Amino acid sequence: MIKPPAKPEPAEKEASYQEQLAEMTRHLETVRDLPGLDKFRQTHELPRAFFEHFNAFLACYDRLIDFALKFSGDHEQIRCKKGCANCCIDLVRGLTTPEIINIYHHVRPWPDAKQIFEYHRDSAEQFSYILLNKVQPGESPPDGRDPRILEAHMEFNLLKRPCGFLDQETGCCRIYPVRPVACRYFFSFDPPETCTPSHEKYFERQTRTVHLPEKIHTLLREIDHAFGFRPLNFLSGAFCQFTAELMRIKLITVVPENNRE
Ligand code: SF4
Ligand code: SF4
Repeated sequence: MIKPPAKPEPAEKEASYQEQLAEMTRHLETVRDLPGLDKFRQTHELPRAFFEHFNAFLACYDRLIDFALKFSGDHEQIRCKKGCANCCIDLVRGLTTPEIINIYHHVRPWPDAKQIFEYHRDSAEQFSYILLNKVQPGESPPDGRDPRILEAHMEFNLLKRPCGFLDQETGCCRIYPVRPVACRYFFSFDPPETCTPSHEKYFERQTRTVHLPEKIHTLLREIDHAFGFRPLNFLSGAFCQFTAELMRIKLITVVPENNRE
């Protein structure tokens, strides 16, 4: 999903918005200060509190979004609803390490985890192929804000290859409680068919975003940094890289708090 420039949020001075922001901050500060994040790459273990607080942060973000949309009155015009998934063929970009860990931990025990991994691996290879075709021989792959990444993103979308976490029968996200931040903040005022990247109104459709406050982005970056792992910056790539290179399909060991020093 492409991130447009953030505008001031009309609700941001309201007490309820500030309460949710304070709670999100508390949860992420707790995650950041947990022991063992820097050793995770070797130990593959995390305290239970990591998942409790990170998921509490995500739930809190959903509440902040609900409040912001209701405060502005925009909720009445939003067309997004359960089972509506045309946007789930859009490449999800902008992932952080704690999000990938949380998704992996959620999905890894599923009986079809291997198939999900293979599907994402194929998606990641297709995106990488599109991107590398834009690179001159001997040149490093583009990163950051290189416009070729956006071009490759749009070309990938035109393949109409759904996200590997989408249940294609129900149109529902199979990882809804742990879905990435990038899948939470974006809403459409226009009919769902305009969300298909090949639709003639795709670029003109009216949308609404409720972005994470900058303070929260900073905390996520700090947590990211604590892990010392740089995931690829798109969901399929980050999920495959984390699964294959770092976890090697093993389960994450969840350690009760009282087992730690
Ligand atoms: S962004 Fe578009 S496709 Fe996605 S849920 Fe909303 S209306 Fe449906
Ligand atoms: S993670 Fe879920 S919400 Fe996000 S693109 Fe995939 S199926 Fe859609």
